[in-house]
Amino acid sequence: MATSVTQPEVIYEGIPASPGIAMGPVYVAARGFSAPEVYEIDASAIPHEQERFRLAVDLTKGQLAELQNRLENISGNNHGDIFEAHIMLLEDSAVLNRVNHAIAKRCQNAEYAFYAVMQTFLEAMRRIQDPYLRERTTDIEDVSRRVLRNFQADAEHHPQGPDVSHLLIAYDLTPSDTASMDRRQILGFATEQGSVNSHTAILARAFGIPAVVGFIGSIIDVTTLTPAILDGYAGKLILHPAPATFSHYRKLQAEKAKIRKALDATRDAATETRDGHALTVSANMELLEELELVAHSGAKGVGLYRTEFLLLSGNDIPSEAVQAEAYTRVARAMAPHDVIIRTLDAGGDKLPVEPLTEPEPNPFLGWRGIRVSLARPAMFRDQMRAILRASAHGKVAVMFPLVSGLSEIERARDMVRRCMDEMQEEGIPFDPKLPVGIMIEVPSAAVCADLLAPMVDFFSIGTNDLIQYTVAADRVNPHVADLYRPTHPAVIRLIKHTIDAGIDHGVWTGICGEMAGDIRLTPLLIGLGAKELSVGPQQVPRVGQAIRSLNHADCTALAAEVLRQTRSYDILNLSLDLARNSYGYLLD
Ligand code: PEP
Ligand code: MG
Repeated sequence: MATSVTQPEVIYEGIPASPGIAMGPVYVAARGFSAPEVYEIDASAIPHEQERFRLAVDLTKGQLAELQNRLENISGNNHGDIFEAHIMLLEDSAVLNRVNHAIAKRCQNAEYAFYAVMQTFLEAMRRIQDPYLRERTTDIEDVSRRVLRNFQADAEHHPQGPDVSHLLIAYDLTPSDTASMDRRQILGFATEQGSVNSHTAILARAFGIPAVVGFIGSIIDVTTLTPAILDGYAGKLILHPAPATFSHYRKLQAEKAKIRKALDATRDAATETRDGHALTVSANMELLEELELVAHSGAKGVGLYRTEFLLLSGNDIPSEAVQAEAYTRVARAMAPHDVIIRTLDAGGDKLPVEPLTEPEPNPFLGWRGIRVSLARPAMFRDQMRAILRASAHGKVAVMFPLVSGLSEIERARDMVRRCMDEMQEEGIPFDPKLPVGIMIEVPSAAVCADLLAPMVDFFSIGTNDLIQYTVAADRVNPHVADLYRPTHPAVIRLIKHTIDAGIDHGVWTGICGEMAGDIRLTPLLIGLGAKELSVGPQQVPRVGQAIRSLNHADCTALAAEVLRQTRSYDILNLSLDLARNSYGYLLD
């Protein structure tokens, strides 16, 4: 890549979200929705471009009407009105005329003319004081995104974004943006929003895409095509890197690649401590595309299969048969190891299960996890039956997310029983001993772990949520990232209490939140008594090697010491010291 000698190096600091170094030109996606490519058109092509605009709008209106219908059928009321408002926007002659006028006057391609007009509306609305009107900007963004997507019907000669590999810079990215990234094109990404434990960051780590988030208010004005380096280890974006910076990062890349290669060679080694204490290292997965990565990571099973990406990425929730096929594929690929399939965890920072009529005031405290499944029994039943079908083809377990108390487990287990009864009657094979577990990620569940343990076969601690709910700091909000501390004494006590309550009832406890993959904390988690660490596929060899470098006795002594500490910082440092002494070279 060419570097400019005239431009001084500029360094932005953010939060490291996915390790790795990426070098390339930046591409800046506009806030709210990406800017399409702009190009000049010939005057003779104006009617053609206006026709393309008309077609994209018609297509969008059709889709919106269908969504409106679907929502009204599901909810049986007029909640589909929101789409009516979207449709009206696309029928507003002021909007249509302005776009057609922009195409003709500026001789610009239709999608860019549309984009520019919508941006003007948005800017005007963002300045409005009235909170209701200001919120309507989300509607405009939604419609605009949809129309821009619909231009792509004839997109071969109108590519979106640059066709060279690049570093993507965005105000924010959704988990589905990350899941659908063309990984040959996007070398890494940087966002103004976001945090380490958002699903966007989790997916970036799963795919090995270097990412830095939380550059609050600083990078969106960077110019597209500026040469840059993204440092996913230290959380930096370096624009116009100096030649010395380039060579430093090339050296670092080579060192990391060497460590990676050595780690890959240890893939099949047993994961037990030097003094013979065995742990299971399994992988978290979100998408079927990750299956090969997971199967080759050396993971001894899948400790968390997040099914929301399978269920919510299309227009409709896949049928029982389609789900069963997906789960069976995973079970077969991982056999003879366990695959823990988590039932739908919609909501929070992930997609809602159905279009929401109004944004939830507190999505993380709202309609998500097992609450949604229990409220939609037909959907829950399909998923449960699909999981049971897969259990005939490998070692499958089911796990329920966001459990807050006993009655949710009772109702969920009821559904398992009913599905088993039905399937037995229908002669469909399944594992009648299918293990049933719950995520411990709500403080009430952790505190009452002794009451819940008799109802389950295993616990899996979801630290991502457990931390945010314990310290009341949103896991995706960079403004409170400093309060979101995995080693907060309250979090450590909840983990300890859960594991101990499990042991008392013969229930094993794993950890599947991002904390499990943070090798600074491996000594502490082993010492607290975790039996399984389920981590992103890229982290599997590293965590395995960390375990092999430790003594269980040291970890137990560390945990005892940690439980006497009062500050998160001291707890982190105690664990980090042992990690450094045992496998310092593995730490980023
Ligand atoms: C967690 O909360 O730690 C967890 C693993 O679930 P998710 O990240 O999908 O909310
Ligand atoms: Mg969770």
